[in-house]
Amino acid sequence: MTEEGCTVVTGGSRGIGRAVAVRLAQEGRNIAFCYRSGVEAAEETEKLIREAGVRVYHAPCDVSDFDAVQEFVAAAEKAVGPVRALVNSAGIVRDNPMVLMDPKDWQAVIGTNLDGTFNFCRAVVFGFMKRKEGAIVNMSSVAGIDGNATQTNYSASKAGIQGMSISLAKELAGYGVRVNVVAPGFIETDMTDALSEKVRAQALKSIPMRRYGSADEVADLVSFLLSERAGYITGEIIRVDGGVVL
Ligand code: NDP
Repeated sequence: MTEEGCTVVTGGSRGIGRAVAVRLAQEGRNIAFCYRSGVEAAEETEKLIREAGVRVYHAPCDVSDFDAVQEFVAAAEKAVGPVRALVNSAGIVRDNPMVLMDPKDWQAVIGTNLDGTFNFCRAVVFGFMKRKEGAIVNMSSVAGIDGNATQTNYSASKAGIQGMSISLAKELAGYGVRVNVVAPGFIETDMTDALSEKVRAQALKSIPMRRYGSADEVADLVSFLLSERAGYITGEIIRVDGGVVL
C-alpha cells in the first residue's frame, strides 16, 4: 500500500541517498529526491524507485540555496503530495589540513552540508507542525563526533548538523515530530572511492569489523528511524560504523 504524500531525500541520486530512497520506495513511500547536477545517476535512481511501484519526483536543486530549496519542496508537494518525512543526505568533502585549507573549501562544505540541512528542515517543519506528524533523519558522520585530521570543515559541518538536530528535536517533540541523526563510518560510495589507497588502507585498520559498510546498511537504520517502530526515539545520534575508532 502506498502512503499519501511523500518522503524527501536530498542527494538521492547516488550513494547513501540512493540506497535510502530506493529502500523507502520498496516500503511503499512516494519519493521526492534532489541532487546537484548528475542527471544520469538521478534517472537510474528514478528507474529503481518506479520498479517499487510508487510515485517519484526528482529535480536538480542546490541544497545550499535557500530559495531553490523552497521551490523544490513546493514543486515536490505539487507532484507527489505533502512532505511526510525528510532525509538530508546530500553532502560533500573538500579535505585539507587546516594550514592549507582554502576558505572557499571551508564555505563550500559548510554551505552544502550544514546550510543545506537547515534549508530543507526549514522548508518542511511548518507543514509537520501543522499536521502534527513527521520525521526527519539528518546524515552526520563519525567525523562529526570524533573529529578527523584534514576534515576540520567536514567535521564542523557534521557536528553542526548534530547540534541543530537535537535542538530541533526538542522544538518539535511536542508536535509529535521526531528528529534523529545517523552517523556513518566508512561506507562504500563514490565519496570513499575517491580516497587514496593509502587512506583507504588506514581506514580499514581503524574498523574493528575489518570491512567498509554498505549504503544499504545505512538505509536499514534510516528506514527504522522513520518508521513507527522508532516512535519513541528522538534527538538521538546513532553510529553505523562497524565499531570504528578514528
Ligand atoms: P556521494 O558523493 O556518493 O553522493 C552525494 C550526493 O549528494 C549526490 O546525490 C550529489 O548529487 C548530492 N549533492 C552533493 N552536493 C549537493 C548540493 N549542493 N545540492 C544537492 N545535492 C548535492 O555521497 P555519499 O552517499 O557517500 O554520502 C551521503 C551522505 O553521507 C553525506 O552527507 C556524507 O557526508 C555522509 N557520509 C558518508 C560516508 C561515506 O563513507 N560514504 C561516511 C559518513 C557520512 P550530484 O551527483 O548531482 O553531485
